[in-house]
Amino acid sequence: MIEDLYQEVILDHFKNPRGRGELPEADSSMVVYNPLCGDKVGVAVRAADDGVVQEVKFSGQGCSISQASASIMSELCTGKSLVEIRALHDDFLALIKGNKLASDLPNLSDALALEGVKRFPARVRCAVLAWEAIGKCVDELIERQQGEAESLP
Ligand code: ZN
Repeated sequence: MIEDLYQEVILDHFKNPRGRGELPEADSSMVVYNPLCGDKVGVAVRAADDGVVQEVKFSGQGCSISQASASIMSELCTGKSLVEIRALHDDFLALIKGNKLASDLPNLSDALALEGVKRFPARVRCAVLAWEAIGKCVDELIERQQGEAESLP
């Protein structure tokens, strides 16, 4: 039963993706590939000076898991701070690698639907792709913030 429900969440995000589109005025963007499956996910982020991510957009194509995961990620990360997104990223990886249980990670919300992927090692990369991209964007923005703080008079 619960498996069917999860399947439905994934298909819904695949068919009606949230956050799909371009973000011309992005503060950071990243494109990542999964050659094993032919997935491509581009992620673009717009962040305010206080470190809150105001907009996340994704582009690309590939299997339902990679594209649904990108949709879920963009919905989940919009309005969160860079630090919060980093924590969500780490939690999602722990979920997919089987290091943490869904019941311990309520913050992941729709992303919990992807937990079943951990039983299919060949598809783990599909699920992680979008999170890898946002992780790199966030790292870049945090580094930039720290650089700016250091250069203050
Ligand atoms: Zn894939």
